[in-house]
Amino acid sequence: MNALLEISQLAKKFADGKYPAVNFIDLEVQEGEIFALLGPSGCGKTTTLRMIAGFERADHGEIRLQGKLVESRQTTVPAEKRNVGIVFQDYALFPHLTVLKNVAFGLKGKTRREREQRAREVLALVGLEGNLDSSPSTLSGGQQQRVALARTLVTEPNLILMDEPFSSLDPVLRESTRAEVRSLLHRARMTTILVTHDQEEALSFADRVAVMRAGRIEQVGTPEEVYNHPETEFVARFLGRTNLINGRASGCMAETPLGRLRLDRTAWGKVRVSLRPEHLTLIPNDPQAKRPAGEIIGRAFKGHDITYRVRFPAHEWIVHTDNRTHFQIGDKALLSALEPAVVLHDEGPPEEG
Ligand code: ATP
Repeated sequence: MNALLEISQLAKKFADGKYPAVNFIDLEVQEGEIFALLGPSGCGKTTTLRMIAGFERADHGEIRLQGKLVESRQTTVPAEKRNVGIVFQDYALFPHLTVLKNVAFGLKGKTRREREQRAREVLALVGLEGNLDSSPSTLSGGQQQRVALARTLVTEPNLILMDEPFSSLDPVLRESTRAEVRSLLHRARMTTILVTHDQEEALSFADRVAVMRAGRIEQVGTPEEVYNHPETEFVARFLGRTNLINGRASGCMAETPLGRLRLDRTAWGKVRVSLRPEHLTLIPNDPQAKRPAGEIIGRAFKGHDITYRVRFPAHEWIVHTDNRTHFQIGDKALLSALEPAVVLHDEGPPEEG
């Protein structure tokens, strides 16, 4: 795979901004990849996207598209010459034009017949061949989303940018539209960057995710990597619920309030680890076990799983179990880790000699 987009040391500070909106980031997006920029509100996702699109100048750093320099302090290629397609949050469809005309609108330098022929092909690709003459207002939110995507795809961009594209859909429609759009983009081998603050959306939609915080990138990886092996406390917390605990590590084991735990990498000295609630399980108290039991202080049945809160003298734990693991409030239970604890930071190996 080749990098379609290369970003190096990109930075931007707005004149009235207290902190840099984007603070020296490096990033590579491969051809055909769906990539997500994920982070809380104000972390610099949209500003990064706008610099890639050519709507915003960078103060520092470079952006290359297909190896060509499009943005640096000295150079800027105008937005309309970057061949980057954008899908907006509100779809920005023309209400007075039919679906077919909305999609054909962006095509230039062709006869009307050619434009409409091409628009028909792309609308078939997004599964809307039966809605060519409909007005956008008669379509569902998910269908409007697909018209907006078709209007971008028809111009054959090298890269598609999507800024919170599913946020106006209701939760049920959002999940199915997301899955459809994802498979469509993969079928079209379209390189795509999605901006979102919704962790579930980023994890389920993207091939790789960059987690951003305060203008910087904290971690880049596949959804499994960033969720199961967060490198920082922020990433561990931002991607879902987790238990954060301190201990003392020596190699691949650590002494913790939960007893001796396996670690996901070697670590030394004071260590802070993360254990996701579903990587723990509860077993009935056994006095022979020679380890302290916790007390169940919270229980939420959620259909396919149950969330328990378990209190130990020094720590409170969150545990997700399957829906067949039954404990009641006040029960005593033992906690057991199903996966190695993820090391967030440690003191490093001891000095030689
Ligand atoms: P959101 O999810 O809320 O859209 P974001 O992660 O996309 O947030 P940005 O919109 O990139 O974040 O904003 C990053 C920072 O830059 C914020 O502190 C924001 O207030 C500031 N900012 C963004 N655009 C401008 C602007 N045009 N002028 C001044 N400050 C701006």
